[in-house]
Amino acid sequence: ILSIKNLNKRFGSLQAVKNVSLDIQKGNVYGILGPNGSGKSTTLGIVLNVVNKTSGEYSWFGGTMQTHEALKKVGAIIERPNFYPYMTARENLELVCKIKGINNVKVHEKLELVGLLERENSKFSTFSLGMKQRLAIASALLNDPEILILDEPTNGLDPQGIHQIRDIIKLIASQGTTILLASHLLDEVEKVCSHVLILRKGEVLYSGRVDGMSSNEGFFELQCEDSSNL
Ligand code: ATP
Ligand code: MG
Repeated sequence: ILSIKNLNKRFGSLQAVKNVSLDIQKGNVYGILGPNGSGKSTTLGIVLNVVNKTSGEYSWFGGTMQTHEALKKVGAIIERPNFYPYMTARENLELVCKIKGINNVKVHEKLELVGLLERENSKFSTFSLGMKQRLAIASALLNDPEILILDEPTNGLDPQGIHQIRDIIKLIASQGTTILLASHLLDEVEKVCSHVLILRKGEVLYSGRVDGMSSNEGFFELQCEDSSNL
């Protein structure tokens, strides 16, 4: 689905992403794991064409289409969810459908998928952060994307909210949608992902299956850093 080769990003003298490579295959759940400032969001921003790369390559769907065409088949949530506060969940999603030219029937299906059907007529402003995040996921799925990209999807949520989001991600993955998520939480990646790219200061410490990472040196290094951050 997505192939990243030797990607680099410099912000002035700071090298935020160093020689990052990743091959994303259909049906898997990929994590980009690393502490604050390790280059997770920058990497996602580059492949979503909102951040300019310094060097390296990436190609969507085997390079068969232009980036803006390819991105129509990608669902992404890289910011805090933002909808019209005085419109209901349903109305907000219907508006997204209208703007993107998607059939309205998808609204019901996606609200159900994220467990918001009972609250479809509630105003967005009354939603908890977890519900807002779930609505954002529903919105990103309206056009049935090939891949869903999430940047720190559980940040700021309470334990129940975290649990719900993780269950939804697993559900979406089980239905065949490929997932790429950035997280600074090791347990999140362990619980949700099949594959992981571990970054530290923009560099790849580990890339491979999640069940292979605990025997990797980079993992222990990161774990130590993580616990000192708590
Ligand atoms: P976090 O866990 O805090 O979200 P991250 O892994 O997503 O971190 P990035 O946001 O990709 O990290 O940032 C990587 C580095 O690049 C950081 O040192 C950050 O300060 C820097 N950086 C990111 N965006 C910019 C920018 N627009 N201009 C300058 N520096 C930037
Ligand atoms: Mg980030």
